[in-house]
Amino acid sequence: MFDILIIGGGIAAVSAALTARNRGKSVAVVSGSMESQSLYKAEKITNYPGVELDGKAFSELLQKQLEGCGAELIRGRALSVMNLGGSFGVAVGNDFYEARSVILALGITREALYPGEGEFLGRGVSYCATCDGMLYKGKKVALIGNSKEAYEDAAFLREICSEVLHFAEPMRFAISGGMKVDTLTAGGVDYKVDAVFIIKDSISVSKLAEGLERDKNGIAVDRSMATSIPGIFAAGDCTGKPYQLAKAAGEGNIAALSACEYIQKKGE
Ligand SMILES: Cc1cc2nc3c(=O)[nH]c(=O)nc-3n(C[C@H](O)[C@H](O)[C@H](O)COP(=O)(O)OP(=O)(O)OC[C@H]3O[C@@H](n4cnc5c(N)ncnc54)[C@H](O)[C@@H]3O)c2cc1C
Repeated sequence: MFDILIIGGGIAAVSAALTARNRGKSVAVVSGSMESQSLYKAEKITNYPGVELDGKAFSELLQKQLEGCGAELIRGRALSVMNLGGSFGVAVGNDFYEARSVILALGITREALYPGEGEFLGRGVSYCATCDGMLYKGKKVALIGNSKEAYEDAAFLREICSEVLHFAEPMRFAISGGMKVDTLTAGGVDYKVDAVFIIKDSISVSKLAEGLERDKNGIAVDRSMATSIPGIFAAGDCTGKPYQLAKAAGEGNIAALSACEYIQKKGE
């Protein structure tokens, strides 16, 4: 069991991890690729105190700091955060991790689901080829996504499924069926499939942690970065504007301090 599990990998997550480690907490960070972080895409940073770097170089610096701070780094996408009553269970692919508290540092989150995505989740819609691919062995499936992970998952599915339709370009998608998925409509064309794998960098917050309140900005938080679920904190772009590095780093720091306080109070 970790004291604090951080979902993210960008500057908000790194800031939270460094602070939590400085406070002597055991920390795990679940993160996707460095390329998926906002900072990595920035041409040149000119408004972060003490730093004047291009985004890639800044990201690499943060990654180095993260690797050296003693946190356990877990590569992958967190699929769900479950409240276990006193601790939290976090599913990452087929693996499961437990922590006393969780910090969400997800970057800008995309709440909108494709029509049918929520309705058929677990009934033919999957966010994880490693977890669910074998359920569709010998069947025809579709995969939506253009990240490195999406291409890897499509290659894996091709080894076990009879046919894999990979949609890497953005277009209008809709998923339909009866008890289970039977059709993916992509760009106005219907494709008969048994499953649709949706491999996005982030997962809708409402699917990630059930019951987490949002406001018009993003995940609803108070000044201590506490969310509506005691023990879950949030930081960075996922809590809303301004989408700026200094704000994300500051919120990561506050979220970590608040998580430390939460753990201490629970232990008293
Ligand atoms: C092109 C560009 C230029 C910019 N220029 C500037 C600038 O000059 N100055 C400035 O202050 N700000 C700038 N910004 C904004 C700044 O980069 C962001 O505000 C900041 O990086 C946000 O950090 P974050 O940690 O909140 O999110 P991110 O850096 O987006 O990191 C979030 C990470 O969480 C991961 N993640 C999400 N869901 C999951 C999950 N379920 N499981 C595992 N991982 C997950 C994502 O893949 C991503 O890697 C710029 C942004 C862009 C895109």
